[in-house]
Amino acid sequence: MSGDINSDMKKIKTSNYRKILRLLMREKEISKQEIVRRTKISITTIISNINRLIENGLAEEAGTAHSTGGRKPVLVRFLPNANYAFGVDFASNHLTSSNRIQIILVNLNAEVIAENSLDYKSFTSRDETIHKIKTICFDMMKKHRIDQKRVIGIGFALPGTVNEKLKILELAPNLLDSAEMKHIDFKPFEKLFPFPLYVENEANTGALAEITFGVARHKQNFVYLSINRGISAGIAIRTHLYKGNKRRAGEIGHTTVASNGIACTCGGNDCWEIYAASGALIRNYNQKGSSVISSTEEFHQKLLAGDRQARKVWDLYLGYLSVGINNILLNFDPRYIIIGGEISEFDNLLIPPLVSKVFSNTAFFEKGDVEILISTLKTRSSLIGAALLALQVFLYGDHKVL
Ligand SMILES: [Zn+2]
Repeated sequence: MSGDINSDMKKIKTSNYRKILRLLMREKEISKQEIVRRTKISITTIISNINRLIENGLAEEAGTAHSTGGRKPVLVRFLPNANYAFGVDFASNHLTSSNRIQIILVNLNAEVIAENSLDYKSFTSRDETIHKIKTICFDMMKKHRIDQKRVIGIGFALPGTVNEKLKILELAPNLLDSAEMKHIDFKPFEKLFPFPLYVENEANTGALAEITFGVARHKQNFVYLSINRGISAGIAIRTHLYKGNKRRAGEIGHTTVASNGIACTCGGNDCWEIYAASGALIRNYNQKGSSVISSTEEFHQKLLAGDRQARKVWDLYLGYLSVGINNILLNFDPRYIIIGGEISEFDNLLIPPLVSKVFSNTAFFEKGDVEILISTLKTRSSLIGAALLALQVFLYGDHKVL
């Protein structure tokens, strides 16, 4: 059955426009002939779409390219400062026992134009918090002389289960006032911003950033692990995020890995994140260490200095980390595991011993079946990915979620 012809035509037109825009963004500068060759769209359609891109400030003609004969091809150049997006990341911080919110303004190349942060002790005054975020965003636009019409959206990366369609943070045990962290509706906040508002789980935005600009660029089928105060996973099937029936896939930090009866913030016991999130390093070190530490960074320094207790704690930690990764391998059989968040800062101290523990624990997988990689965006994946939520809708019309 054919649908409404006008609406079908409109869809084709929009899809051609986005296809050309995506190619232009990737190549930065390209000739019209090359666009025809790569997209298989007719030259007439290409020319009218390029005119539209020029009208929208997204492209300009950039002279002619070298030719081996015939007419010289006209080059088109992408203009990344035509539009902007905001990204907001609700990170948790053990050191100050507060939550820090990071806010960035990026252009279409995801280059950071402005950055700011905001500390808060409680999310119970959430209206006030969102109003503060709004003020920061408007100050950034004013300072950089960016009209609100040129902002394509604001994305929030949140630590917990998120229904991105209904714009609800359903459960976030790792935010400080966890009793209050059920069913936070972001819809009422939409009216505060003169551009679209998006929400997503922070591991999913991390995965999105890695696939767009980071270590997973041109890669498919991976599990991105965000290891900070908690652990959660962004699961990429081909290049789409898999979120499951009720949007809860990836809450892997709350799977049980021991039977010691240690209580977790979620109400359960012995969850993976008690043993393998960054806090485990500090807690275990302080039980027997020569001095008291209060941050992952301090632990890192001790480990680099060859501190005996730090080495023991690290070995125990890697054991638990590998148990959870083995569970992921058996569940998803991914091509890559990507480690992001605070733990990614340990880089070479992390990967070789972790790889050896993971593959010595399993009869099902061998080294080479799965690559364990460190995030190239490190602790910034989730934040950059938050801004990319708006960019993805701009480029694809929707989020690439299964
Ligand atoms: Zn738990």
